[in-house]
Amino acid sequence: MKEKLVLIGNGMAGVRTIEEILDRDPDRYQITIIGEEKYPNYNRIMLSNVLQKKMTVSEIITNPLEWYEENQIELINHDPAVHMDTTNKKITTQSGKEISYDKCILATGSRAFILPVDGAQLPGVVGFRTIDDTENMLEASQKYQKAVVIGGGLLGLEAAKGLLDQGMDVTVVHLEKWLMETQLDEKAGKMLQADLEKQGLKFLMEKATQKILGDNRVTGLAFSDGTTIETDMVVMSIGIRSETTLARTTTIEVNRGIVVDDFMKTNVPDVFAVGECAEHNGNVYGLVAPLFEQGKVLADVLTGKEAKPYQGSTTFTSLKVSGCDLYSAGNIRETEGINSIEAFDGINYTYKKIFVRENQVVGVVLYGDTSEGNRYYNILKKNESIEEYTPVSLLHMVGEEASADVSEWPDDEVICGCNGIDKGTIMTAINEKDLTSVADVTKHTKAGGSCGKCKSVIGDVLAYALGGEVVSAPTGICGCTDLTRDQIVTQIYAKKLTSSDEVYRELNFTNPEGCPKCRPAINFYLNVAWPKEHEDEKESRYVNERLYANIQNDGTFSVIPRMRGGKTNPQQLLLIAKVAEKYDVPMVKVTGSQRIGLYGVKKEDLPKIWEELDMKAAGAYAKAVRSVKTCVGANFCRFGTQDSMGLGIKLEQRYEFIDTPHKFKMGVSACPRSCVESGVKDFGIIGVENGFQIYIGGNGGTEVKEAVLLTTVETEQEVIDICGAMLQYYRETGIYAERTAPWIERIGFEVVKEVLLNPEKRQELLAALDQAVEGRRGNPWDEVVEDNKTRQELYTVGRA
Ligand SMILES: Cc1cc2nc3c(=O)[nH]c(=O)nc-3n(C[C@H](O)[C@H](O)[C@H](O)COP(=O)(O)OP(=O)(O)OC[C@H]3O[C@@H](n4cnc5c(N)ncnc54)[C@H](O)[C@@H]3O)c2cc1C
Ligand code: SF4
Repeated sequence: MKEKLVLIGNGMAGVRTIEEILDRDPDRYQITIIGEEKYPNYNRIMLSNVLQKKMTVSEIITNPLEWYEENQIELINHDPAVHMDTTNKKITTQSGKEISYDKCILATGSRAFILPVDGAQLPGVVGFRTIDDTENMLEASQKYQKAVVIGGGLLGLEAAKGLLDQGMDVTVVHLEKWLMETQLDEKAGKMLQADLEKQGLKFLMEKATQKILGDNRVTGLAFSDGTTIETDMVVMSIGIRSETTLARTTTIEVNRGIVVDDFMKTNVPDVFAVGECAEHNGNVYGLVAPLFEQGKVLADVLTGKEAKPYQGSTTFTSLKVSGCDLYSAGNIRETEGINSIEAFDGINYTYKKIFVRENQVVGVVLYGDTSEGNRYYNILKKNESIEEYTPVSLLHMVGEEASADVSEWPDDEVICGCNGIDKGTIMTAINEKDLTSVADVTKHTKAGGSCGKCKSVIGDVLAYALGGEVVSAPTGICGCTDLTRDQIVTQIYAKKLTSSDEVYRELNFTNPEGCPKCRPAINFYLNVAWPKEHEDEKESRYVNERLYANIQNDGTFSVIPRMRGGKTNPQQLLLIAKVAEKYDVPMVKVTGSQRIGLYGVKKEDLPKIWEELDMKAAGAYAKAVRSVKTCVGANFCRFGTQDSMGLGIKLEQRYEFIDTPHKFKMGVSACPRSCVESGVKDFGIIGVENGFQIYIGGNGGTEVKEAVLLTTVETEQEVIDICGAMLQYYRETGIYAERTAPWIERIGFEVVKEVLLNPEKRQELLAALDQAVEGRRGNPWDEVVEDNKTRQELYTVGRA
């Protein structure tokens, strides 16, 4: 007979503990979960997104009812435990069910603390803790105009922003001088307030609520200074209190929370506690990261594994409100022995403050730019000595630049703080399980599954692991939005959105920073829509495009210089040989597109090699027009009817370095023998006696597609013009990461043909293309070679 394990509380910490137990020993217990709410286990953190209407309730369900069935867990839901007999090991629920246990976990969480003032029980006064609370608030926002949120902490601000997004007039009332005073210092708190004011929130600071006004429903608030404010709704968000009602009816020791030891045991045998209801060493935690750590320890204990004692947690906070990037971790008060270093950038409106005790970072506050949050969190968590760091550069080692490039981060760098998942674990999962999307990574590792803030970094790790090829959804867009490519592009024009941030914000993307799938796509659409107004967002591009080189499976790079039409000369060959020898390049190979590639090049050698080669990039790393393959043609081959090499070189010269939704390959053969396989190119040309046949939409990749004959023309100029028109039409209508074959299938061959063969339309497209790429087609290698800052930032190996 299996032992009976009963979990009281179907919330985040308890159910995570059960998941950990099932991972370790799925057959060990007969499990029953008693829940008070009527929903299966859900991600409470995401209630803020539900309130901001960025997600639906069904999207935040973590474990649907099938999960309980699949794991043979009995779920007694919507029926709280009201009595616990620890002598006879029995629990009674509100409906009178009696459940016996061998082991019991209490994970009853917390309640929103309601200020004990007159009027607190009036209709219209709500907490923000559950799905029901959230739905009540959404309903009220449709009926009423004014809302007051009492409490300017994390939850209060997220609630206020949610109600503001629903069109309410929202005032936040806060007792302290600045917002989020436990996580932010005064400067950051005031920057946050200024940003939220810009978004439309109002604030009453240093106000103590004395009374809630109203007879049948809330109508206003009265403050201790004698002032009042009118409102139709009050959200109480001044803190939480551990839910310990049940435990208090027993001999279980309860202080602020249920008291547990380092193994999550209470003073009563076989009763354990985890989550916000538990008190460890005097601390009660209100964020998920510590609770999940507790869950792991308890799962080890309950499955007989050697458990490391729980020793408390370092917590961090970020806010899920677009346009307010903040990060806070550790101890952020300058008490005795703790000093700080700070920097404010008034131009970019960013602020950093690092708190140091002896030789260790003990806390950090970042506002405006949180990209270094992980880095500081890791220094903090590992208790790294900072003796080697210079304070002036705000804690970078001498000569070191902070790297935003995940390829350089060590394997033990924590990526998902909530779930404590590091880069090494994510890389291993991607490689071993062939994962190709952020959702896959979350499913297999849990990284990104809680507050979701790390999803973009997970995407970067994914892109790094896959060399840039994160698989796109069929519509070209991702889980951040339901909108299709066409809907997004239409809105980009209609609302004149000229930056990615605007797109994420105005189109309500669930992830305010986008994800690896949508970031490059949005950047591309904006480049096409607003070639003059939109500055290319390099950081949104895949690593290969950011570095102008293809990353190889061992982390080195390939260098493929341009040889237009596949034509080279002895001087170039000698130079390539010299560089390959000098930099000890492990392999030199002729590529599939008739170029010479240097493989196995170290990142830091790239700019030096480019400089010494003095050739252009072939663009083999990019979603762009690729080099043109040509046969030797009429000048040398006895079958040739046209100068294929000459035409190929002209095409390449005219259109090189132009971005397209996916790579765009061309081939020019001088007779129907088609030695360069023109029939499987995106744009393939076959020379014939009286001119040139043009084929489009071929693909020789994983899904081989034969190109279709578009037309036959007499002159090279016509070939070049039709090519340019097709490029622009593909750019204007293609889904990012869609090759020309599916594009033509989607748009319709006849439509494409009609457009490209209509002389007026063709000229319009050509003019649009020329305008779009004007000034944007320099050799990217030169930019790097000539720009010391970029060389330093992108090509210096900072951290091993
Ligand atoms: C809007 C919002 C945003 C948040 N944002 C973040 C964030 O960004 N980052 C972060 O780390 N944390 C965040 N949190 C906090 C996080 O959600 C909590 O730390 C976490 O949910 C606590 O898990 P728990 O299991 O201890 O409690 P809960 O998740 O609250 O689960 C406890 C469950 O026990 C049930 N229960 C209580 N008594 C009984 C009983 N007698 N019988 C049966 N069931 C009972 C409750 O109804 C509840 O369902 C947020 C919370 C909210 C509300
Ligand atoms: S395609 Fe024709 S012209 Fe070109 S190399 Fe082959 S046989 Fe000769």
